[in-house]
Amino acid sequence: MNPPRPVIVGTGIAGLWTAWRLASEGRRTVVLTKETLADSASAWAQGGIAVALGPGDSPSQHAADTMAASDGLADPEAVRILTSEGPGRIYELLALGARFDRGPDGRLGFGLEAAHTRPRIIHSGGDRTGAALIGCLAQVVRSHPLIELMEHTEVTAVLVSDARTVGVAVLREDGVSRPIAASAVVLATGGVGQLYAVTTNPRVATADGWAVAHRAGAELRDIEFLQFHPTALKLPGINPAPLISEAVRGAGAVLVDRDGHRFALDADPRGELAPRDVVARAVAVADAAGGAWLDARDIEDFATRFPGITAILAEHGIDPLRDALPVAPALHYAMGGVRTDLEGRSNLPGLWAVGEVASTGVHGANRLASNSLLEGLVFADRAGHALAAEPGRGDSPRPLPDFPLQEETGADAQCDGIRRTMREIMTGCVGIQRTEASLLHAEQELARLTRETPSSAWRTRNQLLVATLITEAARRRRESRGGHRRLDYPPAALRRETA
Ligand SMILES: Cc1cc2nc3c(=O)[nH]c(=O)nc-3n(C[C@H](O)[C@H](O)[C@H](O)COP(=O)(O)OP(=O)(O)OC[C@H]3O[C@@H](n4cnc5c(N)ncnc54)[C@H](O)[C@@H]3O)c2cc1C
Repeated sequence: MNPPRPVIVGTGIAGLWTAWRLASEGRRTVVLTKETLADSASAWAQGGIAVALGPGDSPSQHAADTMAASDGLADPEAVRILTSEGPGRIYELLALGARFDRGPDGRLGFGLEAAHTRPRIIHSGGDRTGAALIGCLAQVVRSHPLIELMEHTEVTAVLVSDARTVGVAVLREDGVSRPIAASAVVLATGGVGQLYAVTTNPRVATADGWAVAHRAGAELRDIEFLQFHPTALKLPGINPAPLISEAVRGAGAVLVDRDGHRFALDADPRGELAPRDVVARAVAVADAAGGAWLDARDIEDFATRFPGITAILAEHGIDPLRDALPVAPALHYAMGGVRTDLEGRSNLPGLWAVGEVASTGVHGANRLASNSLLEGLVFADRAGHALAAEPGRGDSPRPLPDFPLQEETGADAQCDGIRRTMREIMTGCVGIQRTEASLLHAEQELARLTRETPSSAWRTRNQLLVATLITEAARRRRESRGGHRRLDYPPAALRRETA
C-alpha cells in the first residue's frame, strides 16, 4: 500500500497549478475532476489576467485598484501578495509554454477593464485566454509522471477522522462509490453560479466545494458577496448565459436602453467602465424598463479582437457589426468561500482550498475584473509550496474508518423541478438587489424545498444547503457593500443623497 498523497479536487487553473507546483517539488499527487479536465470556468475565461507588467504600472497601483474595488473589505496583505507575486507566476506560465497576445513590437499587449486605472489585462487568442491557459497546463499535468489524473470522478464528501481530513468520498462514472485516502485534500472546485437561474458559470459550478467543506466542519466566510456580470447575452432559456467580456466595453462598446440612451453614464461618471456592481445594477434597471443593449458596432476589428465571442454570437444569428447585443446581468463570481489562511489552509486540519472556492480575503466585497485567474495562480502556488513542505512523506498508510458513501440513486434527476425553483428564488430574492422581505421569503421557500427533497437526492440537498447558507449570510449583513446590495440598507453615499 502506498502512503496517502495530497488529493486535489478540480481541474481549473487553481487545481492544475497546485498539482504542477507539488509535482515540481517532487510530490506525488492525485487530481480528481467530476467531468473532463477541460470542464471548468477557467477554460471559459475570456478577458484575461490582470497583472502589473505594463509600462508605468506597478504592483502597488494594482493593489490600490483591487482595494478600491473591494469596497473596503479586502485584506491588504492578501492583496499585496496577489499583486506582487502575480508577475512571477506569469513569467513561470510563459516558461511553461503559455502564449499571450503581443503588439507589433513583440511586447505583451494589455487590455483595459472596468475599475483598473490603466490597461493591465494580458490575454491570449484575443478573448480565448482561458482555453489557451488550460490547454497549456493540461499538457503539463497529463504528461507529468508524479501526477495521477482521474476524470469523471465526483467528490461527494470530505472524510474526517479525529478532527483531521483523511480523504474524500468519490463517485465514479461507472456508478461505483469509494473512499480515497489523502494526506491532505485541496478543494479547487470553483464557483456557485448554477444555484442561480441566470449565470455565466458552467454546469459543473454547483457549489460542491462549499457544501462538502461546510458538512465536514470547515468555515465559510463572505458568501453573501456575489458578483453579477453586467453583460451576459440575454437569450431566455439558455443556461449558461454566454458572456460578453468586459474587454468589449474596454474596447469602446457602449450600453444603451430602448431609447438609445447611454444610461451607464447616469449611474457613474465612468460609464460602462464603472465597477461591475454599479454597471450591473444599471443594466438590470434598463432591462426591467424595456431592455439593455451593448452596442459594439463601432469596434471595426471586433472579430479579430474577440473571435470567441464572435463565434458565440454567430451561433445565435447575431452579428456584432450589424446588431446591438441584448444583455442582462448574470451571476458570475463568488467573492467569499472556504475561509483560508494566505497559504490555503482551512480551519479544518488537512483541508485546503484554492481559487474561487476559497476565501483568502483578497476580493473583499467585490472582485476587480480579471483578478481571479491571477488569484488561482498565486494562491495555488503558495498552497502547493506549503503543502510540499508539510511533513508526512513517510506516513504509513492508515486504514480509513467506515464512512457512509453517496450512491448514484437517480433521485437527483427527479428533483429537476426543485432545483429550477431554487434557481428562480435565488435570482429573484437573493440576487442583484435584496431586502429583508425577499431574503426571508427565500429562506422559507428553500426550507420548504429542502423538506420536499428526499435524502437520496444528495446533490440537490447540497445545492439547497449552500443556497440557504448564502441567504442567511445575506440576511445577517445589514448593509450594502460591494456585490451585496440591500435596498433596505442603502450605501452611505446614497443615504446622504436621499437626505
Ligand atoms: C464565462 C466566464 C469568463 C470569465 N472570464 C474571466 C477572465 O477573463 N479573467 C478572470 O480572471 N476571470 C474570469 N472568469 C472567472 C474565472 O474564470 C474563475 O473565477 C476561475 O477560473 C476559477 O478557477 P478555479 O480553478 O477556482 O475553478 P474552475 O475553473 O471553475 O474549476 C473548478 C473545477 O472543479 C471541478 N469540480 C467541481 N465540483 C467537483 C466535485 N464535486 N468533484 C470533482 N470535481 C469538481 C470542476 O469540474 C472544475 O474542473 C470568468 C468566468 C466565466 C464563467
